[in-house]
Amino acid sequence: MPIQNNISLKPYNTFGIDVSAKYFISVSSLNELKSVLALEEYPNKLILGGGSNMLLTKNQDKLVIHLNLKGIEIIVENDEFVIVKANAGENWHEFVLWCMDKNFGGIENLSLIPGNVGTAPIQNIGAYGVELKDTFVSCETFALPDLSMHTFFKSECLFGYRDSIFKQQKDRYVITSVSFKFTKHNHKLNIQYGTIASELELMNVVNPTIQDISKAVISIRESKLPNPKIIGNSGSFFKNPVISKKQFEDLLQNFPDAPSYPVSENEIKVPAGWLIEKAGFKGKRFGCYGVHKNQALVLVNYGGANGNDLLNLSKLIQKTILRLFNISMEAEVNIL
Ligand SMILES: Cc1cc2nc3c(=O)[nH]c(=O)nc-3n(C[C@H](O)[C@H](O)[C@H](O)COP(=O)(O)OP(=O)(O)OC[C@H]3O[C@@H](n4cnc5c(N)ncnc54)[C@H](O)[C@@H]3O)c2cc1C
Repeated sequence: MPIQNNISLKPYNTFGIDVSAKYFISVSSLNELKSVLALEEYPNKLILGGGSNMLLTKNQDKLVIHLNLKGIEIIVENDEFVIVKANAGENWHEFVLWCMDKNFGGIENLSLIPGNVGTAPIQNIGAYGVELKDTFVSCETFALPDLSMHTFFKSECLFGYRDSIFKQQKDRYVITSVSFKFTKHNHKLNIQYGTIASELELMNVVNPTIQDISKAVISIRESKLPNPKIIGNSGSFFKNPVISKKQFEDLLQNFPDAPSYPVSENEIKVPAGWLIEKAGFKGKRFGCYGVHKNQALVLVNYGGANGNDLLNLSKLIQKTILRLFNISMEAEVNIL
């Protein structure tokens, strides 16, 4: 496909922000990707997956490369396990459903997360007590700028909470495929987190299968999170801040109801949604954008907002949280 000019990126980002790409190309093979990455006349490039973790604040002068690399294959299989390789442009949720259909266990709790398989390792996507790293085996990449191919195994990826080497060394590697290890039987079920257990009860499920868990997670997410096809959003806008034990004790003095999750002996995670709600932003609407009414962690575009409206709102929230609680919140979304 030739390089196109002045393409609207509105259909390519879940916030639904209408900015344009000066240069745009969709690539569907590794060879095509490699030759596009090698184009010296476009020194600045932006990789675009599902566009569900980005806030576009301006027209993009870079060459926007839409990754459309498709294909899923089983590369190793025995009686207990299977190793599956999925190309970067596969839609994450469709990949989860593919696994559910084959009874491959491990990512059922990550059902209905938007975006692509190739982006999933970057922030080590996670939900309902499970993270990508739990089933991750390796990923293949092109390193920039020399385009050498490098396979990263789990220990090299430096996975953390919404973090990895690919986030730390932003724009250094283009992930082209990801391999996972899934169970074929005796699946390790994870139903303790959130409301999965009560959702399963509502579904009258006594001995849940991975498919039941996937359905429960889909149902919870559909009831809690705004559907980006209806209201533009990028999921959780902020990471949950991790603070010291001492800082948390100080917080409790003024806010004895502050919720928390221990991270390590000296660190505590405080839900960003609680902080934002306490600061009075939950459900606040500023014309065509605002904070979602049910989920304070989600900033929304009701239609027609521009990226700077949302960026300024996110800065106002960060400033208010710092003033009220002395806690810094970091954006989870990529600001571009
Ligand atoms: C409604 C909603 C709910 C969400 N829920 C969750 C959740 O529960 N848990 C969670 O972790 N996340 C969640 N997210 C965030 C998002 O789905 C994930 O971060 C997802 O992995 C982003 O994938 P994407 O393909 O859309 O990334 P994009 O937005 O296309 O890209 C994100 C960044 O990665 C870069 N990039 C993209 N692909 C590649 C590649 N192959 N190689 C190198 N760089 C690349 C881009 O340049 C950009 O900087 C949610 C988002 C929405 C809209």
